[in-house]
Amino acid sequence: MSDAPPVQPTSASAVVDADVVDACIVCGGAYRPSKLPGLFQCENCKFISADLSIPDEELSRLYGEDYFHGSEYLDYVAEADSLALNFRRRISVLEKLMPNLASAELFEIGCAYGYFLQEIAPKVRKASGIDISGDAIRRAIEDQRVDAVEGNYLDTDLGRQVDVITMWDTVEHLKRPDLFLEKTAHDLRTGGLVAVTTGDIGSLNARLQSKSWRMIHPPTHLHYFSVPTMKKLLEAKGFEVIYVAHPGNSRRLRSVLYFLTALKGNKRNIYEALKDYRLFNLNFTVNLFDIMYVVARKR
Ligand SMILES: [Zn+2]
Repeated sequence: MSDAPPVQPTSASAVVDADVVDACIVCGGAYRPSKLPGLFQCENCKFISADLSIPDEELSRLYGEDYFHGSEYLDYVAEADSLALNFRRRISVLEKLMPNLASAELFEIGCAYGYFLQEIAPKVRKASGIDISGDAIRRAIEDQRVDAVEGNYLDTDLGRQVDVITMWDTVEHLKRPDLFLEKTAHDLRTGGLVAVTTGDIGSLNARLQSKSWRMIHPPTHLHYFSVPTMKKLLEAKGFEVIYVAHPGNSRRLRSVLYFLTALKGNKRNIYEALKDYRLFNLNFTVNLFDIMYVVARKR
């Protein structure tokens, strides 16, 4: 299928000690308690993080089977159709920024069930990914038939440089996004792209909602970027930011029907009776302009 070497974990000696965080991961400044309860803010660059003393083992446990089946993702599988819509829009941005995307190799960090890999695979030369969740990776391989491995990206030697690395809604979950972006720069060829989506705590909606902003939930969300702090970190790691947008989130009406009948109402028969009506193919976009999509080029 592919001539590239498989992704292999490196030896333990090469593993970065990601457990120790005693200064701002963006600028090295000192963290002070934030005015948002339970969060900390860098006194220098204003970057906001959660309490980072949580042990790595505890973080890994958060992303077991329950994570993808629990309240946070509710039913990721039921959302597959809506997710595909959003992924297609993100891909069209990548196609504009990298006209030769069809001949590119792409790697995804935090590939979950593999829906993005499935969407992008026919549009690139090669697509593969990694996720910390073994349950998600099993589904990605068995159901989506994508090239994905279970593991920690930081401990994984790709054995090659790739053209595009994507991290969809992933950086906020990582204890050390700085180390991830550093390794991303190492794993990309010069001129290669890293594409990231995450909440924007500097957005109007986040500022209005303050501590009630829906993206604030430590410890699964450990870091709260704004456009300036994201740019600052990317530039510090050898990237030039070439694209910033706040795309909306599209949903198929069918997934709302599923949510209201099968999931919330426990009336799957109603869902089955209605789901084939073409009306439910309609999609709509909600945009609170508080999720940023940032693409940066390796210098
Ligand atoms: Zn800072």
